[in-house]
Amino acid sequence: MKKKRVLVTGGSGFLGSHICERLLSMGREVICVDNFFTGRKENILHLMGNPYFEIIRHDVTFPLYIEVDEIYNLACPASPVHYQYDPVQTTKTSVHGAINMLGLAKRIKAKIFQASTSEVYGDPEIHPQTEDYWGNVNPIGVRSCYDEGKRCAETLFFDYNRQHNLRIKVGRIFNTYGPRMAMDDGRVISNFVVQALRGQDITIYGKGEQTRSFCYVDDLVDGIIGFMEKTPDTFTGPMNLGNPGEFTILELAQTITNMVGSQSRIIHKDLPADDPMQRKPDISLAQKNIHWNPQITLREGLTKTIEYFDTYLKNL
Ligand code: NAD
Ligand code: UDP
Ligand code: UDP
Repeated sequence: MKKKRVLVTGGSGFLGSHICERLLSMGREVICVDNFFTGRKENILHLMGNPYFEIIRHDVTFPLYIEVDEIYNLACPASPVHYQYDPVQTTKTSVHGAINMLGLAKRIKAKIFQASTSEVYGDPEIHPQTEDYWGNVNPIGVRSCYDEGKRCAETLFFDYNRQHNLRIKVGRIFNTYGPRMAMDDGRVISNFVVQALRGQDITIYGKGEQTRSFCYVDDLVDGIIGFMEKTPDTFTGPMNLGNPGEFTILELAQTITNMVGSQSRIIHKDLPADDPMQRKPDISLAQKNIHWNPQITLREGLTKTIEYFDTYLKNL
């Protein structure tokens, strides 16, 4: 039987590389499209010998003509440090990238997944966040290129669905972590783990009372693939995908320093503008529709992540 051919944009990034790996293990032919802005060849090096894996260096803000059965659209820098480096390009990646991938999906009648984000809820006034909450987003702040770009991408997905009957799946991903996050990524777990392993100061932004809910990457991949594979075409989402376990950033810093056995001091830096105070997904929709429940506790996930960075730093 002919293998299903799947396009993964952003396939050499943190999440994308795990999706490529999983799809190959499921017997799919995988095409990874990436401009390597935050992605790295080393994330996919182990897949390169596989004859069913192909890499195309391409920026999704430009049109792409290929033939595939399914698309996972993950291209977009996800860390505030990276997406604020060139904010105009970030909006273009979300918006023009979505238009091009939707245009592609329309022409070849492919099913398409969009990696949306909990950031569409902004600094949320309801807690935990359910999919019917419209969000509290600053349209002109430093995070807006990412938040509003992703919100506009969602609009485009739903309009292509209504206007052109496209088969869409929109997943709102909450903070996810694990091996292959970039060391200089700037996100909280990679920062704290690397700082703890190196005995450097742990940099808490603000008092550390803000909360996040952290999902281990393998759980997230189960959720994304389950959404694409197990739900009927009529089920488009948006659907939250994240681990409802909620922690303050101070708790996270203490847990990581204890687990590493680090002598690092905790220091406080300014809280960045528009930093959301709390975040926790309501995952009832995913539980009901794909019977999905994250299995990996924060401590288990951190153990694997600390092991990864420990080895990575020793081999630098
Ligand atoms: P990442 O930065 O590791 O990966 C993003 C990938 O997209 C990189 O490989 C990068 O080179 C590529 N890319 C960026 N701009 C591109 C462009 N114009 N053309 C082609 N490729 C481009 O980030 P990640 O954590 O793996 O995130 C992947 C996706 O998931 C993103 O869309 C992100 O918004 C979404 N997401 C991630 C999280 C999370 O916690 N990791 C949470 C919510 C949403
Ligand atoms: N597009 C693409 N690959 C395709 C088909 C379309 O990249 O295989 C791009 C194309 O450049 C266009 C966008 O997707 O700008 C939207 O396509 P659509 O057909 O929806 O709109 P139109 O071409 O009518 O503007
Ligand atoms: N944060 C922190 N120290 C760091 C990096 C991040 O205290 O070195 C905080 C950040 O201000 C935010 C939380 O940790 O409140 C999560 O930040 P991250 O960039 O990982 O994700 P996002 O803000 O996009 O949820």
